[in-house]
Amino acid sequence: MRVKAIVKTQRQPGAEFTGFELPEMGPNDVLVKVAACAICGTDVHIYEWNDWAARTFEKSYGPLPRIMGHEFSGEIVETGKNVTKVKVGDRIAAETHIPCGSCFLCRTGKQYNCQNIKRFRTGVFAGYAVIPEFSAEIIPENVTYHTASLFEPFGVAVHAVSYVRMVGDTVTVIGAGPIGLFVAHLAKTMGAAKVFITDISDYRLGLAKKVGADAAINVRNADPVAVVKDATQGLGSGIVIETSGNAKAVKQAFEILRKNGSLCMVGLPPEPVVLDAGADIVWKAAVVYGIHGRDTFTTWEIAKNLVSSGRVNLEPFITHKFPFQDYKTGFDLAIAGEAGKVLLLPE
Ligand SMILES: [Zn+2]
Ligand SMILES: [Zn+2]
Repeated sequence: MRVKAIVKTQRQPGAEFTGFELPEMGPNDVLVKVAACAICGTDVHIYEWNDWAARTFEKSYGPLPRIMGHEFSGEIVETGKNVTKVKVGDRIAAETHIPCGSCFLCRTGKQYNCQNIKRFRTGVFAGYAVIPEFSAEIIPENVTYHTASLFEPFGVAVHAVSYVRMVGDTVTVIGAGPIGLFVAHLAKTMGAAKVFITDISDYRLGLAKKVGADAAINVRNADPVAVVKDATQGLGSGIVIETSGNAKAVKQAFEILRKNGSLCMVGLPPEPVVLDAGADIVWKAAVVYGIHGRDTFTTWEIAKNLVSSGRVNLEPFITHKFPFQDYKTGFDLAIAGEAGKVLLLPE
């Protein structure tokens, strides 16, 4: 099937909006008419073709040319002959990490962290997408397609906050990109006493205040370690969630952390991080944990319940919507940090 799609064609910055042949449907696949797509941080790296993209994209996703994108929602219009989990007409969003089902981690209940994780055979920034039925996740009736396209990244934030007790505590979110913004909102929803958030973009910090952060710190003008310590009688923050992936910010995250606090790492530093392990971890008796993707499918159930119950409203996180053909404008905004989530929509 030939579709109009945003395709990464060259190992250089940019992409093309062009015709592209979808892969053949297998017996366990479903064909989805795409309703809404969202730009992820990884899409930005791939679009810019930075070092990370050059090193890892083709290895973990597949060779170019390849349709871009993985965050989306849509309607199932065809099912492979072995498909039983979903049917034609179902409205879905998609889990993007596909586990093997047989490795040590899959067999011990950690399929989200499978040793042989696979991705969609091609991307989803297209009129139609072919994905395995495993990935198709039916969305609640009262959730719009636009909102549902955010479930995948929102799930990362839901997963990140699921191992800590936020009620009545101080929470610091490092980085006000989409995941950081989701975390700040969830922290407030979960009863955090005070939520600090840091970034270098005033636009994103403004958005953070709108979605629930109490104190927004622009690290270009202020030292976040001093600000949080001053506001907590020198104690530091009980919970710190690092979403920036900036090496210097990661070090600061450890310094902001209170003794016996929990520090969650979500951002991916492109270079090694230097810590003072004694002061930053050992003497603090710190709990440090990493988060990768969503805890399938526990996270999906929690995320869907939060949104369909109205406890969480994802609409304010969508700051821009563009038709596919204006993808360049969308990517430019995401690169500049002048956006929350940017949606790309088929005609
Ligand atoms: Zn993503
Ligand atoms: Zn596995």
